[in-house]
Amino acid sequence: MNAHDSEKVVGTLLHEGYSRVATAEQANYIFYNTCSIRDAAEQKVFNRLQHFKKAAGKGKVFAVIGCVAQQEGEKIFERAPHVSLVAGSASYSRLPEMLAELEAGNRRVTGLNLDTDQTFDTPFTSRDNPHRGWITIIEGCDKKCSYCVVPFTRGPERSRTGASVIEEAARLAGLGYTEIQLLGQNVNSYRDPSPAGWDFATLLDQVGRVPGIKRVRFTTSHPRDFVKPIIDAIDANPNLCNHVHLPVQSGSSRVLAGMQRLYTREQYMERIEWMRQAKRPIAITSDIIVGFPGETETDFEETLELLEEVKYDSIFSFKYSRRPNTPALELGDQISEDEKTRRIVILQERQRAIQMRQNVELLGEVEELLVEGRYESSGQWVGRTTRNRNLTFVSPKTDLLGTYVPVRVTRAGPASLTGELI
Ligand code: SAH
Ligand code: SF4
Repeated sequence: MNAHDSEKVVGTLLHEGYSRVATAEQANYIFYNTCSIRDAAEQKVFNRLQHFKKAAGKGKVFAVIGCVAQQEGEKIFERAPHVSLVAGSASYSRLPEMLAELEAGNRRVTGLNLDTDQTFDTPFTSRDNPHRGWITIIEGCDKKCSYCVVPFTRGPERSRTGASVIEEAARLAGLGYTEIQLLGQNVNSYRDPSPAGWDFATLLDQVGRVPGIKRVRFTTSHPRDFVKPIIDAIDANPNLCNHVHLPVQSGSSRVLAGMQRLYTREQYMERIEWMRQAKRPIAITSDIIVGFPGETETDFEETLELLEEVKYDSIFSFKYSRRPNTPALELGDQISEDEKTRRIVILQERQRAIQMRQNVELLGEVEELLVEGRYESSGQWVGRTTRNRNLTFVSPKTDLLGTYVPVRVTRAGPASLTGELI
């Protein structure tokens, strides 16, 4: 989401007549997009700002945008007086105005209002990837997971109209894009604000019907709002990828309650069952947090058991990190850093073993890849399957980028697959 915000901000700046340069030294304006989801994000930002200041030289205008900007607000001007603009993502639709203020010499420009129903839609997005185009369909988050800073940095949920999403997808198809990835903190609570009133499953299906679009992905799904019609849509429309990222966070219903995730382990498993009954095999991936305050050894064991039960295709795992403003900050029984490290190492080892077993089963299978890159040094190509697996293969051909090719899996590791072009 943050990387795509950068693409939209860059596109807006280019449209306003600015151009991109290679180094901080060459720049007049330096935009620094920040994320505050975990760790000592604030400190990192201040350290980097000092570093950029030195690298850029005198007389430069600095802008700090994104979640750390929203979280720290005007404090940034005090701690880093060389910064002139501080704005969170909920204010990006006002970027042209804020730029005009900077141009007029105002050295304390802010965009910090979270109370908005605006979304940042722009036709000028400057995309880095020429094959897979991200499209934001919903901004902000109305869930209040007790560990999470997002509701305080991205504001309330607001959806774009279905028509504007379809229009953007069609424009991307016209530019040669074949894959679309729909983005939102919780795409499942998407609700078209126009009279059409599409829900997420309808939008997904419609994007999958845009001529030229061969693959549609979406992230992230909150299990609470994940409904069966999403699976029905995947079943009915072969252009919707066989992959669902459904973050569980913990395998213990007790911890889930403390996290205010609004579902139990059993309810989560019910959604996994829907996926298992789908017509095509669906890859399932997840996010997991270890060491949430009060997580006991038994709770942690339940998460390990859940890994075995679901057999995720891959996971992102994180040590719980205390975030400003969040309710979990007040909870007692914080887990020590050493213990969190011990747990995440065990978790990742278990997951590696699961992935190894699953990847070995793919040996001999033929997968269709969208070829996304080439490693010049080794002559290898890399592509992605509909189930979101990366596969590498060697081919003397030179024109495979962006094409769809069949590849037979010949070698499997826990995190990688190798194959041969058929
Ligand atoms: N809206 C998405 C994800 C947002 S952040 C969702 O609900 O799934 C991505 C992931 O970062 C989360 O799924 C969670 O696993 C992790 N995360 C968020 N806040 C965290 C924190 N304070 N400590 C550790 N991990 C965190
Ligand atoms: Fe954060 Fe929960 Fe919202 Fe995801 S759903 S962004 S984890 S509050």
